[in-house]
This record gives sequence, structure tokens and C-alpha cells, in this order.
Amino acid sequence: MTRRLLYFLPTFVAFRWLALLLFLLPGHALAAIDVGTLRGELNLSPHVLLLEDRAREFDIERLLRHGEALEWERSRQQTLNFSFSDSAWWLTLRVENDTALPVRRLLELAMPLHDYLDGYVVDQQGEIVREWQTGNRRSFDTRPISHRTFVLPIHVPAGESRQVFLRLDTHDGLYDATPLYLMDDASFLAKAQRELMAFSLYFGALLALLIYNLLLYLATRERPLLHYVAYLGTFFILMFSSRGFAFQYWWPDMPMFNNQMVPLNIGLFAVTLAIFSESYMNLRQHAPRLTRVLYGLAGLCMISALPALFGHYAAVFHLMIPGAILLSCLLLGVAVWRSYSGDTLARIYLVAWSVLLIGITLYFLRVAGVLPYNVVTEYAVQVGSGIEFLLLSLGLAWKINKFKNEKLAAERATLDLQRSLNERLEREVAQRTQELEKANQQLTTLARTDPLTGLLNRRQFQELMEEELQRRRRSGQPLLFSIMDIDDFKLYNDTYGHHAGDEVLVRVSTLLLEHFRRAGDRLFRLGGEEFGLLLDVESLEEGQRALEKFRGALQELSIRHETSSYGVITSSFGLVACRGCDAVRDVGTLYRLADHAMYEAKAHHRNRVVTCSHLNASD
Ligand code: GH3
Ligand code: MG
Ligand code: MG
Repeated sequence: MTRRLLYFLPTFVAFRWLALLLFLLPGHALAAIDVGTLRGELNLSPHVLLLEDRAREFDIERLLRHGEALEWERSRQQTLNFSFSDSAWWLTLRVENDTALPVRRLLELAMPLHDYLDGYVVDQQGEIVREWQTGNRRSFDTRPISHRTFVLPIHVPAGESRQVFLRLDTHDGLYDATPLYLMDDASFLAKAQRELMAFSLYFGALLALLIYNLLLYLATRERPLLHYVAYLGTFFILMFSSRGFAFQYWWPDMPMFNNQMVPLNIGLFAVTLAIFSESYMNLRQHAPRLTRVLYGLAGLCMISALPALFGHYAAVFHLMIPGAILLSCLLLGVAVWRSYSGDTLARIYLVAWSVLLIGITLYFLRVAGVLPYNVVTEYAVQVGSGIEFLLLSLGLAWKINKFKNEKLAAERATLDLQRSLNERLEREVAQRTQELEKANQQLTTLARTDPLTGLLNRRQFQELMEEELQRRRRSGQPLLFSIMDIDDFKLYNDTYGHHAGDEVLVRVSTLLLEHFRRAGDRLFRLGGEEFGLLLDVESLEEGQRALEKFRGALQELSIRHETSSYGVITSSFGLVACRGCDAVRDVGTLYRLADHAMYEAKAHHRNRVVTCSHLNASD
């Protein structure tokens, strides 16, 4: 309920002294604050009278003259908050010093971004004894005490009182909460130290995170780290500006720039936020179209900040705020969606971003006048952002670790694959080599043997017999060689057919193999039904005996051959023997000698063994 305290005061009272007297009467709304014994911080908001100056028509002179006739009202808030207002606001309060010593008290307007603040101290005679024109849109040296907030020293002589007038105005119609305190020097010092300590911790932590992640980026070259650094960097400057430190320490002579910095920084913050969020949650991969919308909104925020460079803030309010709200909602939505899809990073992001968003929401609700000014709404953004950046940094470390593990796993998998491929290749090569060796062996066997009978072929006869001859020449050992020819084989073929003839060849060969099994025995098929036999025996007689035994065995095999004179398959043999074999020039000579003996056998009714007798003599 508004009490229009001075509404009914007679407007005709023209004398300043009378006006002041009435205005300052203790029975009226404005009770004097006893500052002589004041210790600690006194919240002034409930002790001031307010006057809304809609047309910005009042000045201090007019207030001193006609102030009592205006619509002053007592503040009802614990902390003044004009929120969105196109008016200028006047505040007044009265302080008195009942002690015997003069005192100095400090009046603090604890809102670093407040645009215009005019302060006046009026003595008991109605004279202005001190006045200041300061505020965030005026150079920093207009402040009587160098501090990030506005601190005005109020001197009250012993036993006197002072009337203080403050005029608050904004450039753009946006007031934030305007906490007002009155305190003694010691309390101010304690408060300033307390705040500085808290902010140092906060900014120190942000800076440590920034430097740590920057170094980490330099070491790893992981791009999300760089995006984090940019995001944190813009946020750091934003906070440093909005808390009044940037103006105090970085650009105290540039109030214009200081004010433009805030919207520009918010725009830049939106852009770095979008880039960071994209790379943090891999949005381009998961939702490329949404990423474009994200960048669009961030771009809108950035562009809407540009008119601030020329002193126009309308776009900042009409575009940037909706853009920033949409961007925040979109990021929140994306984080919820990605979290729901099981993305751990998105979950970390969701928690981090929610914490900051809660802080920002609390702050804006206070700016809008919905929530009161208190420790929570004052430091919510600080606490929220501190937690956010810490969580995000942890998330990044997790992400990089995951990256590294995935890379390691991929490398290991590649190595394993390579190893198994190599092993398979080696196995295959070994198998092929084995097959090839087998094939080679088969080929060699094929090259050495006669396909029908499996006995050594004619080429082997040539090679092996050459070696045997030489060995015999060196060792002087006896060599016994025989040619065996099946009798009347042409007739057999003619009678039983070629196929039956082949079967006879095989059976004869098998019988040969069964009979001549000594290590040195070699059996050759020299062509057609003619065979060569290298016998592992010591003498002609022994050889002859072996051949006779075989001849008998063949005859006893009784392979029917009705057109032959024996009625069964028989063979004729020519056996040649040599010791030292100097007389045998070569394999050809050996063959001819044996062949000759064999033909002798043919000539003598076949089915017999004829030895090469003239060599026998040298035996
Ligand atoms: P001889 O007792 O004088 O040795 O009379 P022969 O008929 O055995 O001798 P000849 O040289 O006149 O004939 C050899 C025959 O052997 C001719 C051919 O039909 C037969 N022959 C040669 N090679 C093969 C073969 O691989 N398979 C078969 N089935 N017959 C063959
Ligand atoms: Mg402002
Ligand atoms: Mg024959």
C-alpha cells in the first residue's frame, strides 16, 4: 500500500526555510538517522523517501524550494529496484550526529553498472555543502572514492544534521536492483575486503581454469579445449565488466566503451557458447540442421549488440534478449535430448548449463523486480558459473580421456587386425608352400616315373645308370643289369586288346616290385613291354638266380596267353655284369650289351635268362 506521504502538504509554502522545516519535521515520514554512533552497515532502502521524476523536470534547486509539495513516498522495498522505468528517481534521507565529534559516514550505492548518480548534501540552513555527478556513464574519476561501486562520503559536524538527495537516472530505462548502505569507514573497509576476497577467489578460479585449459590445448591440440577457453574468456570479461572491475582497472577513462562492452560481450558470449556447445556435444555430427539454427541465434545476438556501438540499445533489448532466451532454451533442449540418448558429455553439460541458467534466471528475476536483492540473487551467477565451468572442464578432461582411449582401442584393434591378417597370410603362405612342395614332389615323381606302372622311367634310367656306372668305376664294385622283355606281347594285345595288355604290364611291374626289394634294386620301364633291372647283387650267379626266380614266378602267375607258345605270359632276360666296368663306356653300351643278351634269349625260345658271358670272364 502506497503512502503518498507529502501529497497533502500545502503547495503555497514558498519560503525555503519553512519548507525545509516542514520537510524535515521528525513527525513526518523522514525520520533522521542517528549516524553519530552508527556501527556496521545500515540498509538505507527502508529509510529513504522516493520521488519519481517522469519528465526529468526536477533539479536540486527546485526540490529544495518546492520539494515538500511533490509526491514523495516512502520506499517499501528492502532493496530499491526500479526495474524497467523511463523516469529519473530522486531519493532523500536525513542523517544527524548527536555526538560531540564530527563524523564521516559512507553512503554506498552497491550497483556498479548504474548509469547516472547525482548526490547532494544539504546542511541545516538549506545550503548544498557537497555535490557529486557520477555514475557508470561518467568517467571513473568523478567518484569521490575509487571503488567499483559508488561510495559518497557524508560529513556531519557534531550536533548537526544533514539532508542527502540522490538522483538516479539511466541511459536506457533499465534499472537493476540498487542496494543502498550507510556505514562507517571501518565497516566499509571490512565489507570491501570481504567482497574483494570473494571476487578474487572467483576470478582467480576462472583464470586458473582458463590458463589450465589453454595449456592443455597447447599440449594436446584438442579443439574443444580452445573453444572452452574462448567461451570462458568472454564470460570472464563479461563478469569482470559487470562487477565494475573492468571500468576501475582496465579503462577508467572510457565510460562510453565500458557501457558498450557489456552488450558486445553478451553477443560474443552467445557466439562462443554456441561454438563451444557444438564441439562439446558433437552437435554438427548428431544434428547438423539444429547446429545451423544455433549459430543463427548466436549470430543474431552478436549483430543486435552492434547498434550499442552507436549508443542505440533498443535492438539489444528487442533482439538480443529474445535471441539469448531462445538460444538458452535450444541448448537446454539439445542437452536434454542428447542426455536422453545416453551421451555422458551431454549429461555433464546439462547439469553445468542448468546450474548457470538457474543463476542467470535468479539474477534476471531480480533485475525485473520479481525477486528481492539478497546474497542469493546477488551471487547466483557467480556461484552458478563457477560450478558450470568446473563441471565443463571435468567433462572436457573426460572427453579427451575417452578420445585417447578410443584412439588407443582403435590402434590396438588395427594392430590386432594386422597381426591376425599377417598370421592368416603366413598360414596361407605355409599351406601354399606345402601344397607347392607336394605338387613339386608329385611333379618330380611324375617326371621320374612311368605313369602306368609306377616304375622309374627311361630318363631316370639314363641318369641313375650313369651315376651307378661312375660309382662302380670308383669303387670297383660289381654292377648287374638286366633287360627284361615280355614275350609275344604284340600277339597278346592283338588277342586280348590293348587295355588287357596294359593290365598285364601293371601286374608284371607289381611282381617285379615284390621280387626286387633290396635297397640298391632299381626297376625301370624302358618303353613298351621292355623293362630295365639294376640288381643289388654281388655276382652274376646271384643275379641269374634272382632272375630265374622271377621268371618262374611270372610263369606261375599264369596270365593266360593262348597265342604264345607257353600259353601264359612269360618274359625273356638279358643279364650283363661288370666289375670296375672300365670296359663299359657308357649307359648306351651297357644297354646294348644287355639287349643283345636278351635277344639271344628270344632267339632261344624265349622265357629264359641269357647272361653276357664275355664280361663274365673279367668277373
Ligand atoms: P617278342 O616276343 O619278340 O618280344 O614279340 P613281341 O610281340 O613282344 O614284340 P614286338 O616288339 O613285336 O611287339 C611289342 C608290342 O608291345 C607292340 C605293342 O602292341 C605292345 N606294346 C608296346 N607298348 C605297349 C603298352 O604300353 N601297352 C600295351 N597294351 N601294349 C604295348
Ligand atoms: Mg544501464
Ligand atoms: Mg616283346
